[in-house]
Amino acid sequence: MTRDVHQQAREWIALTGTALTGKDGLSDAQQSQLQAHLRECDSCREYAEATTQVIRSLRSVPLAATPALVRRTQARVRQHAQLLRQHKERLWMVGIACAGIGFSAAVTIPIMWRIFSWMGSWAGVSNPVWETGFGIFVIVPALLVSVLLLARGTHLTDDASRWHY
Ligand SMILES: [Zn+2]
Repeated sequence: MTRDVHQQAREWIALTGTALTGKDGLSDAQQSQLQAHLRECDSCREYAEATTQVIRSLRSVPLAATPALVRRTQARVRQHAQLLRQHKERLWMVGIACAGIGFSAAVTIPIMWRIFSWMGSWAGVSNPVWETGFGIFVIVPALLVSVLLLARGTHLTDDASRWHY
């Protein structure tokens, strides 16, 4: 029958443990009976201490992790939002630059065409010659701009991918 006493004590210890986490506990009579048994029985006292320790460490884990984890998560979310905002701003700037280039090209190309045509007839060269010169004049800045934009583009993706690590 002594074995049943230990069994009963351990059940009560377990109940005391769940009582700590908010479920129903022991009656006063059971509580004093358990305390009396724990005073006499070393193995049940060890069991009770181990149980208490496990419950305490289980309860302390979320308490210790939560504020730090929340702070870290918030910081990361804020960083990510800021990065997205920067990315949008830069794309907006690139878009404005492209529109500006397109607009100035639409204005300058007809004017430059006339200037090249006039210079061609003034220098006495044939049409294909000044037309080629005009072509180079128009294409080279466009090439330079696209190279610049590509360089900026890779810079942007470098920036963005850094946060994935
Ligand atoms: Zn015992």
